Amino acid sequence: MAKILLVEDDPMIAEIYQNKFGSVGFEVVTAKTGKEVLKYVSQDKFDLVLLDMVLPEMSGMDVLKEIKGSGNYDKSVKIIIFSNLSELETQQEALKNGADGFISKNQYSPSELVGEIQRLLNQFAEQEKNRNRQEGNLGDNDKKGKILLIEDEEIFLEMFGKKLEDDGYEVTRANNGAWGAKEALEGDYDVIITDLIMPAMSGEEIIAKLKSDEKTKNIPIIAISASVTDEKETEIRNMGVEEFFSKTRIVPSDLSRRVGELLKK
Ligand SMILES: [Mg+2]
Repeated sequence: MAKILLVEDDPMIAEIYQNKFGSVGFEVVTAKTGKEVLKYVSQDKFDLVLLDMVLPEMSGMDVLKEIKGSGNYDKSVKIIIFSNLSELETQQEALKNGADGFISKNQYSPSELVGEIQRLLNQFAEQEKNRNRQEGNLGDNDKKGKILLIEDEEIFLEMFGKKLEDDGYEVTRANNGAWGAKEALEGDYDVIITDLIMPAMSGEEIIAKLKSDEKTKNIPIIAISASVTDEKETEIRNMGVEEFFSKTRIVPSDLSRRVGELLKK
């Protein structure tokens, strides 16, 4: 069921909303300040945030900017401005900063609000579906995960890529390190598999880059290499990769199985 974060500093009103939303199966978490909103959004996944503009410590607009613009948060979270401030200028500024909609506080009773939120969530789900359809990603939901495979030798690229695709993963292939690193930083991959020895940019450099970037540091990485010393392998493992495989000693299904395990975590 949908999970909503509501900013409301009056405990009695917060309780009324919680009961109302709870009675139709929504889960509502309430926050009192902008800083609390940021804390909750970074700790948990919400379908929607009802954000007041007038808040203590930090304004709603600043909270919105932080979530949608800083890159520190999951910006796919839907933020609805829930406020009595209805000036067009405020609305335009909020839109520019990434707001997904507006609800005027004094326009709805709690039960009407529940209905309106339900309608918005349906609308967002519909938009998402259309977007996927337009991008030709129909059936994307059936895919088990997005994998980036960085490998400069065509034979391994094809062999591993094909097996992963056969097993239902969406695979993006990069046949050189520099391109692979760019793709890894710009895309949203569930697992990244990288070769170590490549021209232009080595697997080690890629791993270091991804592990030091806020956006990619938690993406599981599998390093694959044809021949490295034990010492080198330890060094790579210590960089925070989830797995290290010797390319010549594994079969494609070993790699695919490990990807499956990592995605289940
Ligand atoms: Mg290589």
